[in-house]
Amino acid sequence: MYTVLFEKIAKRAAVIRNEGDFTDDETGLLRCGKCSEPKQQVVDVYFAHKKIVAFRACRCEREADAREKTALAEHDRRQRQKQLDMGIKSEAFKGYTFDSDDKRNIETTKLCCQFVRHFAEFEALSTGLLFCGDVGGGKSFFAGCIANALIKRNIPVLFTSLRDLVDNRQAAKYCGEELIDLKMYRLFVLDDVGSERLNKADLDTAFCIVDDIYLLQRPLIVTTNLTISQIDNPSSQEIARLYSRIRERAPKAVFISNKKQNRLTEAKAKLAIIDKILGGE
Ligand SMILES: [Zn+2]
Repeated sequence: MYTVLFEKIAKRAAVIRNEGDFTDDETGLLRCGKCSEPKQQVVDVYFAHKKIVAFRACRCEREADAREKTALAEHDRRQRQKQLDMGIKSEAFKGYTFDSDDKRNIETTKLCCQFVRHFAEFEALSTGLLFCGDVGGGKSFFAGCIANALIKRNIPVLFTSLRDLVDNRQAAKYCGEELIDLKMYRLFVLDDVGSERLNKADLDTAFCIVDDIYLLQRPLIVTTNLTISQIDNPSSQEIARLYSRIRERAPKAVFISNKKQNRLTEAKAKLAIIDKILGGE
């Protein structure tokens, strides 16, 4: 039953002769012409009561193998880096980091840090966050902070918009553009959901994309200027099924208020007091 296997081993051992290789007079085995190490070895297959000549890697072979392994590892590393870099295309979004946070909304900063810290748990639950609230409150900024912090930890995140994903899928279908491979990413950030203008065909495509993310069981972070009531009571059936899918992967709504606006309001209130003082008797 081992005959075929032995023949294969013998065949491999026999076809490795290169120019300059020579036979060792003493052992009868082939030696490398470059490093002089044996390229064959006798293996005692005791259970078959047989000795066979098998392949042996000489130093040149071992070094070539090591070089190939290093090159493959470097290729993998570059691919991973490319994948990480591709996750956030916009330079502006790359600048959304906890380091650049002005801490004006410390509760949200803390919440986002907690999300990053416990990402594995959110990943296991396949759920993310829905950032809603005041315009200018920094919803995209906080989503970007999470994305950049995870990318820094070598976790691939795709920070994008429904519009871009729809455009990519349609361009891939009709113009041969490279389709974004959703499988590569462990978190998706859909920025400014609800602001995009999607016709019926776009909505169908958007649903397919969100459904793919849903089936991949990846967590989702969504930022939107819509209110929860607008998300839960959309204007059409198509939008309803799209938002319902989104809500399944981003069930936790986080209201982000515009603290800057509050500060301005405070400033305005002070101005009114100052005006009163200056204008008074
Ligand atoms: Zn050699």
